[in-house]
Amino acid sequence: AKVEGRGTYRFFEAAMGAEVKERRLIEHDLLHAVSRGELRLAYQPQKQLTSGAVIGFEALLRWQHATRGVISPDAFIPIAEESGLILQIGEWVLRTACREAATWQRPLVMAVNVSAVQLHSAQFAQLVHEVLFQTGLSPKRLELEITETALIRDKNRALATLRQLKSLGVRIAMDDFGTGYSSLSNLRAFPFDKIKIDASFIRSVDTSDEAAAIVRAVLGLGRGLGLPVLAEGVETAGELAFLAAELCHEGQGYLLGRPCPIESYEALVAASGGK
Ligand code: C2E
Ligand code: CA
Ligand code: CA
Ligand code: CA
Repeated sequence: AKVEGRGTYRFFEAAMGAEVKERRLIEHDLLHAVSRGELRLAYQPQKQLTSGAVIGFEALLRWQHATRGVISPDAFIPIAEESGLILQIGEWVLRTACREAATWQRPLVMAVNVSAVQLHSAQFAQLVHEVLFQTGLSPKRLELEITETALIRDKNRALATLRQLKSLGVRIAMDDFGTGYSSLSNLRAFPFDKIKIDASFIRSVDTSDEAAAIVRAVLGLGRGLGLPVLAEGVETAGELAFLAAELCHEGQGYLLGRPCPIESYEALVAASGGK
């Protein structure tokens, strides 16, 4: 048992070592990712459920690594946050997404994810103001997606920043609703324009009574607060039918459109004959 224990410990230690090494490698390469032009944005449509019309797109970060292929944001954003690199990367995302949306003929919303580190950085609202000015994008066409976890670090400071952003005319969406802490008080305390129900509740909504009850409750909350609700991660026709029957306003998910380079959605962002 003693030998086995030591072996297990060594295995664990080696695994930890490999993980630390991997993080250092990612951090090192990430330092140059922006300047080497390895970052890309994929755009995923957000649709009105009654009409099926596209109302906007969410910008999702992709890292095209020179030797490792495409690295998912879940694998490098936490590292970018710890090292502070997220400030540079997040600014690139904001600029690129706003510049893109400003070229669209249709006045669609561009949703951009904002990390807690960015939200709490000095002069974040000033940066947003500058980027809007420089790209010429109308503030009401920019929606910043913020998770509850991003708010709790320093609530007063987060509130002050959100108020500055609101006064610019920018929209704020609560991202991943239901997965953070004290969702209900946050909805009351912060000036949100939209609730995005986390995909984990949408999955199994048409097969599980519990998931269905939770989604109905969030939709009721949205109606009560006068906030539109967007369902994330809509993958099946059954989920879509449930959401439409419950009068969910908006949806996003593989069924409605995958995150893709904007070239795939050129026809959607261009003004069409009748509109
Ligand atoms: P998120 O903001 O909740 O974004 C939604 C994620 O769900 C995206 O993963 C999207 O590709 C994926 N998704 C969309 N529809 C479906 C579906 O029907 N089924 C399933 N299974 N997944 C779906 P992605 O692109 O890998 O991004 C993961 C997370 O990384 C995002 O979650 C967000 O928290 C973060 N992220 C992405 N881009 C940025 C960024 O520019 N800045 C920051 N700070 N975070 C970002
Ligand atoms: Ca998001
Ligand atoms: Ca989300
Ligand atoms: Ca399902």
